[in-house]
Amino acid sequence: MENITKFILIFSVILIIFIIILPNKSENNINKINIQKVSKNSSENHKSMENSSIIHNANSLVLSCIDYRFIGPTMDYIYGLNNKNDFDYFVLAGSSLGYNQSIDTSGIWSITYEEHIRIAIKLHHIKEIIVIDHMDCGYYSAIYGEEVNTPEKEEYRHKYNINKFIDTLKNNPEFSYLSYTGLLINVDDENNLKFNVIYEDH
Ligand SMILES: [Zn+2]
Repeated sequence: MENITKFILIFSVILIIFIIILPNKSENNINKINIQKVSKNSSENHKSMENSSIIHNANSLVLSCIDYRFIGPTMDYIYGLNNKNDFDYFVLAGSSLGYNQSIDTSGIWSITYEEHIRIAIKLHHIKEIIVIDHMDCGYYSAIYGEEVNTPEKEEYRHKYNINKFIDTLKNNPEFSYLSYTGLLINVDDENNLKFNVIYEDH
């Protein structure tokens, strides 16, 4: 009888140890699998990024304003323009004005933008910069106030800033060989958009 009690006690202890250890062990395995999966994916991602720098070329780097109303139409316009979907894309509030203001005030937007031109050249060998301003721009109002309170006054400022933006980059020896296109999106009373060419190198 004493032996049977001993046996039951030892068996219970062993059973409890298994119950405690086994789930932890399988949990460890799951963690290990997940970690392996993550590291495998990250090395694959890295590999595909390396490959993409070799095989992908883009024609242009497009700069536009952040305004959500114009992003879709801008994409449609650019797709129709070069028919290849082959462009890199960057946004600054006010587009040309965002860059020019930063140059004038020694800000960081122009530094960041120029860094991205270098990256687009290095990775995708872009040949052209397309800058797109739009009328009814909140950033122009924020910077110029009353000076852009009519469409005529605002249009004048856009043309000035698009040309200044292109002149500044063309005078930079790093970017002088690129082609430049400057566009201004006009908005009529019925909210129809029209892309007007302000500057074109070719
Ligand atoms: Zn805007």
